[in-house]
Amino acid sequence: MIELKSPEEIEIMRQAGQVVGGLLKRVHDLIKPGLTTKDLDKAAHDYVIECKAKPAFLGYRGFPATICASVNEEIVHGIPSDRKLKDGDIVSVDAGAIVKGFYGDAAFTKVVGQVKPEVTRLLKVTKESLYAGIAASKVGNRLSDVSYAIQQVIDKSKLGIVREFVGHGIGRALHEDPPVPNYGAPGTGPRLREGMVLAIEPMVTIGSPEVEILEDGWTAVTRDRSLSAHFEHSVAITERGPQILTAWEDV
Ligand code: MG
Repeated sequence: MIELKSPEEIEIMRQAGQVVGGLLKRVHDLIKPGLTTKDLDKAAHDYVIECKAKPAFLGYRGFPATICASVNEEIVHGIPSDRKLKDGDIVSVDAGAIVKGFYGDAAFTKVVGQVKPEVTRLLKVTKESLYAGIAASKVGNRLSDVSYAIQQVIDKSKLGIVREFVGHGIGRALHEDPPVPNYGAPGTGPRLREGMVLAIEPMVTIGSPEVEILEDGWTAVTRDRSLSAHFEHSVAITERGPQILTAWEDV
């Protein structure tokens, strides 16, 4: 069942989203060669506490950190560690926060130092596909129109779409109905209605999109170890159009 949110509830979700956006901006600006992903996690945790909010991922099904930090071939759910970022890496940071019982969830991928043009393109296409999905998140459209819009952008660029992980509804829980795949034919699924809130999150690979889970039970990597990027926003569907609740500076 898809739970609709009142305008008042969406305002609270915007507060949660702004904590997430602020956190991502802080971590984004910090990223440089030599820092560990644990350093990023500490900065993220400090930020959430400063905001008097709660980290949404810490303790979620036993996840041990405030952010997921996924480097290079890691797609999502990377656990922050003592691994040092180095020139030529890419790092995906995913974070959630809880304010007054409501969740926000968003992610970005950033390059560390210099990367090849094909890597810059991977990030650009992934972000573009997210924005195509957001643009399709309109009252009256069907859910799979969002999925289709995302897929169109990625297919055109001949990149891989991860299928094992999908977007989701969000609200009083981190993961609510409906699942939001990043692929699919248009015109099916529930009609989008005012008050739905979706976390839209394409995960895109340079090589094969097949997934493997590492022994830590969390980290999802590409089976062929090709690079993977991830962008995400929490988006409210309103009569005035989609509203990005987790908006921050340039993502
Ligand atoms: Mg999510």
